[in-house]
Amino acid sequence: MLDVLVIGGGPAGVVAALRAGDLGARTALVTEGEFGGMAANDGPVPVRTLAHAARLLRDARQLGHYGIQVGEPRLDYSQLLKRVWDVVADVRVHSAFRTQTDSAGVQVHENAGAARFVDPHTVVTASGLTLQSDKIILCPGGASRRLSVPGADLAATHSDAWGLSSVPESIIVIGGGATGAQVASVFNAFGAKIQLFQSGPRIVPTEDEDVSAAVAAAFREAGIVVREDFGSIESFEKTPAGVRMHFSKNGEHESAQATLAVVAIGWVANTCELELSKAGVETNARGFVGADEFLRTTASNIFAAGDVTGRLMLVPQAIQDGFVAATNALKGSSMKVLDQPAPIGSFTDPEYAQVGLTETKARENHNIATARVDFKSTTRPIIDDRTTGFCKLIADRTTREILGCHVVGERAVEISQIAAVAMAGNMRVDDLAQVPLSFPTYAGVLGRVSAMITRQLNLNLDWQGNRAGV
Ligand SMILES: Cc1cc2nc3c(=O)[nH]c(=O)nc-3n(C[C@H](O)[C@H](O)[C@H](O)COP(=O)(O)OP(=O)(O)OC[C@H]3O[C@@H](n4cnc5c(N)ncnc54)[C@H](O)[C@@H]3O)c2cc1C
Repeated sequence: MLDVLVIGGGPAGVVAALRAGDLGARTALVTEGEFGGMAANDGPVPVRTLAHAARLLRDARQLGHYGIQVGEPRLDYSQLLKRVWDVVADVRVHSAFRTQTDSAGVQVHENAGAARFVDPHTVVTASGLTLQSDKIILCPGGASRRLSVPGADLAATHSDAWGLSSVPESIIVIGGGATGAQVASVFNAFGAKIQLFQSGPRIVPTEDEDVSAAVAAAFREAGIVVREDFGSIESFEKTPAGVRMHFSKNGEHESAQATLAVVAIGWVANTCELELSKAGVETNARGFVGADEFLRTTASNIFAAGDVTGRLMLVPQAIQDGFVAATNALKGSSMKVLDQPAPIGSFTDPEYAQVGLTETKARENHNIATARVDFKSTTRPIIDDRTTGFCKLIADRTTREILGCHVVGERAVEISQIAAVAMAGNMRVDDLAQVPLSFPTYAGVLGRVSAMITRQLNLNLDWQGNRAGV
């Protein structure tokens, strides 16, 4: 009998197993496929590698601007895919905690097939393993939600898109959230003609409205057809050259066709094969496991961590969840998941990122001050000829608390991280204005927006005027 069994080898599961091993527990980790989960094998790592290639193409086209003469860049997609899978393998070996879990004495069962419960303490796997454990931590992650319309199986998911052997001539991308926007942006850079369909009124809808507008405008300028509020999909049909999507709005029927259709309409939990009812674990309609702030499920010996809980579905949150779940499983429920500002970003072109509240949300409960600086009026983006984008900061007028930061443009994700550190450290907006951020840098824009709010609030900074030139 084990002390702790972890199901799922993504960031949540790996950190849960490592923490349990570090606490001296007899621990096993069982996972259907490769160690590293979606994060290493199918999500951020392959996406970021493709996005990097897209950036290199863009940068190569800019060389002439700086007096460097080379020919028009040409993409060899199969060579790029080889690079993607080399990177994935490298990350899996070097930075996915494998050495640490091994040295913590965790038994790792990779490629074990789907695990399922027999009773609250017993799990069997498709490969024939039977594992019994006092405590069990569920970390099976999630999977792309499929459409349920006729012909839906003709549409691919983002995973299929990474597996293509060549760049399709044209792609219909359904869903303008983070994943759909990345598929659209990356394959547009590779030369595919993209139509991006979003059912709501704006793409990247969880971002600040200014961000959605700027990303949509940049996508359109880059040649992507963006269709917000397009209606609802009725069916897909095969065509000689690919696929046709039929959709309608207010009784008007339309269709769009392309070589490939990619669906990115959200996420369901990977729980259907686990037979959770045999363990007494309750789930909601989309299969997500209900977990409280200590990550306890409805079964007293079973905890849940990562995407399977349906909360913020990102690697840093999965890592924190894994640590908390394993700690509570072994030491009693003493540690809560922290509710702190989480920087979130996406590697589209242009990049976008956020931390904290959007302007609309902030206005609901605060008297706010905002400042926005466009990249075209800051030094480093001008030097690098990366002038698309802006940084917007939101603060509370009374408490001077930084409530949110929203960035579009080069290094947006890195800029929002610095704002997140300031927020996590409870810096007031005028404290941030006094940090002498390096010049000329992208992050320097934070000094400028925080100094603008400081002036609006009539706070005293001896040297605040110095920021004007950043
Ligand atoms: C295209 C894309 C881009 C993304 N980009 C980012 C990003 O830039 N930054 C970021 O922070 N996050 C990003 N994410 C999200 C991130 O990948 C997830 O939040 C993270 O991987 C969740 O970790 P997890 O451990 O909960 O689950 P996963 O990483 O999904 O791992 C779960 C593991 O459990 C296994 N499993 C499932 N069911 C069973 C079963 N019955 N038995 C045994 N094993 C099972 C799965 O095979 C998998 O290996 C992205 C996701 C996608 C799809």
